[in-house]
Amino acid sequence: MSLLEAFEPVAHDLRAAGLDCQLTEDPNPGEPAAGATAVLIVSGVKVGRLTLGASVLDTASRTLYLAAQTQRLVQGNLSIGGRVIEWPPCLPSHTHPMMATRGQRTPLWTCPLGGTISVPIGEHP
Ligand SMILES: [Zn+2]
Repeated sequence: MSLLEAFEPVAHDLRAAGLDCQLTEDPNPGEPAAGATAVLIVSGVKVGRLTLGASVLDTASRTLYLAAQTQRLVQGNLSIGGRVIEWPPCLPSHTHPMMATRGQRTPLWTCPLGGTISVPIGEHP
Protein backbone atom coordinates (compact mmCIF):
# COMPACT_ATOMS: atom_id res chain seq x y z
CA MET A 1 0.00 0.00 0.00
CA SER A 2 2.68 2.48 0.98
CA LEU A 3 4.64 1.49 -2.11
CA LEU A 4 1.68 2.38 -4.32
CA GLU A 5 1.23 5.69 -2.56
CA ALA A 6 4.92 6.61 -2.76
CA PHE A 7 4.98 5.57 -6.44
CA GLU A 8 2.11 7.88 -7.41
CA PRO A 9 4.31 10.96 -8.19
CA VAL A 10 6.66 8.74 -10.21
CA ALA A 11 3.69 7.35 -12.16
CA HIS A 12 2.62 10.90 -12.92
CA ASP A 13 6.03 11.73 -14.36
CA LEU A 14 6.08 8.59 -16.49
CA ARG A 15 2.67 9.48 -17.89
CA ALA A 16 3.77 13.07 -18.46
CA ALA A 17 6.46 11.66 -20.75
CA GLY A 18 3.91 9.56 -22.62
CA LEU A 19 4.87 6.34 -20.87
CA ASP A 20 1.96 4.29 -19.63
CA CYS A 21 2.70 2.44 -16.39
CA GLN A 22 1.23 0.01 -13.94
CA LEU A 23 2.33 -1.93 -10.88
CA THR A 24 1.37 -5.55 -10.50
CA GLU A 25 1.70 -7.99 -7.68
CA ASP A 26 5.13 -9.55 -7.35
CA PRO A 27 4.79 -13.33 -7.90
CA ASN A 28 7.86 -13.90 -5.67
CA PRO A 29 7.58 -11.23 -3.01
CA GLY A 30 10.08 -12.69 -0.52
CA GLU A 31 10.01 -11.93 3.17
CA PRO A 32 7.37 -9.32 4.08
CA ALA A 33 9.69 -8.02 6.82
CA ALA A 34 12.22 -6.97 4.18
CA GLY A 35 9.74 -4.52 2.68
CA ALA A 36 7.29 -4.24 -0.17
CA THR A 37 7.86 -5.24 -3.78
CA ALA A 38 5.90 -4.86 -6.99
CA VAL A 39 6.51 -5.57 -10.65
CA LEU A 40 6.68 -2.45 -12.81
CA ILE A 41 5.25 -2.48 -16.33
CA VAL A 42 5.96 0.51 -18.55
CA SER A 43 4.38 0.84 -21.99
CA GLY A 44 3.46 -2.83 -21.85
CA VAL A 45 7.03 -3.98 -21.02
CA LYS A 46 7.81 -5.66 -17.73
CA VAL A 47 10.90 -3.64 -16.85
CA GLY A 48 11.59 -5.17 -13.45
CA ARG A 49 10.86 -5.18 -9.78
CA LEU A 50 10.55 -2.21 -7.46
CA THR A 51 11.46 -2.77 -3.85
CA LEU A 52 10.80 -0.53 -0.92
CA GLY A 53 12.75 -1.43 2.19
CA ALA A 54 10.78 -1.48 5.41
CA SER A 55 13.37 0.86 6.92
CA VAL A 56 12.53 3.69 4.50
CA LEU A 57 9.98 5.48 6.62
CA ASP A 58 9.04 8.88 5.26
CA THR A 59 7.07 9.38 2.08
CA ALA A 60 9.58 11.78 0.50
CA SER A 61 12.40 9.26 0.89
CA ARG A 62 10.19 6.47 -0.42
CA THR A 63 9.31 8.49 -3.50
CA LEU A 64 12.95 9.43 -4.08
CA TYR A 65 14.04 5.83 -3.76
CA LEU A 66 11.32 4.55 -6.11
CA ALA A 67 12.01 7.31 -8.64
CA ALA A 68 15.69 6.37 -8.84
CA GLN A 69 14.84 2.66 -9.17
CA THR A 70 12.23 3.35 -11.83
CA GLN A 71 14.71 5.42 -13.82
CA ARG A 72 17.28 2.61 -13.74
CA LEU A 73 14.68 0.04 -14.82
CA VAL A 74 13.30 2.21 -17.63
CA GLN A 75 16.74 3.11 -18.98
CA GLY A 76 18.03 -0.43 -18.63
CA ASN A 77 15.10 -2.45 -19.87
CA LEU A 78 12.85 -0.34 -22.02
CA SER A 79 13.64 0.71 -25.54
CA ILE A 80 11.11 1.89 -28.03
CA GLY A 81 12.06 1.49 -31.67
CA GLY A 82 15.56 0.41 -30.56
CA ARG A 83 16.08 3.66 -28.72
CA VAL A 84 16.88 3.92 -24.98
CA ILE A 85 14.33 6.08 -23.20
CA GLU A 86 15.94 9.09 -21.52
CA TRP A 87 13.48 9.56 -18.71
CA PRO A 88 12.65 11.97 -17.30
CA PRO A 89 13.81 14.33 -20.05
CA CYS A 90 15.81 17.40 -19.07
CA LEU A 91 15.72 20.64 -21.08
CA PRO A 92 15.10 20.04 -24.80
CA SER A 93 18.67 21.14 -25.58
CA HIS A 94 20.09 18.66 -23.04
CA THR A 95 20.59 15.11 -24.21
CA HIS A 96 20.60 13.54 -20.72
CA PRO A 97 17.77 12.61 -18.37
CA MET A 98 17.30 14.37 -15.04
CA MET A 99 18.37 12.64 -11.84
CA ALA A 100 16.49 12.06 -8.63
CA THR A 101 17.82 14.15 -5.74
CA ARG A 102 16.75 15.00 -2.25
CA GLY A 103 15.35 18.54 -2.15
CA GLN A 104 14.79 20.61 0.96
CA ARG A 105 11.04 20.03 1.08
CA THR A 106 10.34 17.46 -1.56
CA PRO A 107 12.30 15.03 -3.74
CA LEU A 108 13.40 16.59 -7.01
CA TRP A 109 14.40 15.80 -10.54
CA THR A 110 17.56 17.79 -11.12
CA CYS A 111 19.74 18.52 -14.16
CA PRO A 112 22.98 16.57 -13.65
CA LEU A 113 24.99 19.57 -14.90
CA GLY A 114 24.12 21.58 -11.81
CA GLY A 115 21.47 22.09 -9.21
CA THR A 116 19.86 25.16 -10.75
CA ILE A 117 17.40 23.32 -12.98
CA SER A 118 15.01 21.15 -11.03
CA VAL A 119 11.37 20.17 -10.74
CA PRO A 120 9.60 18.33 -7.89
CA ILE A 121 9.11 14.61 -8.54
CA GLY A 122 5.44 14.29 -9.44
CA GLU A 123 5.33 17.62 -11.26
CA HIS A 124 7.45 16.92 -14.32
CA PRO A 125 5.74 18.79 -17.16
ZN1 LIG B 1 20.12 19.05 -18.09
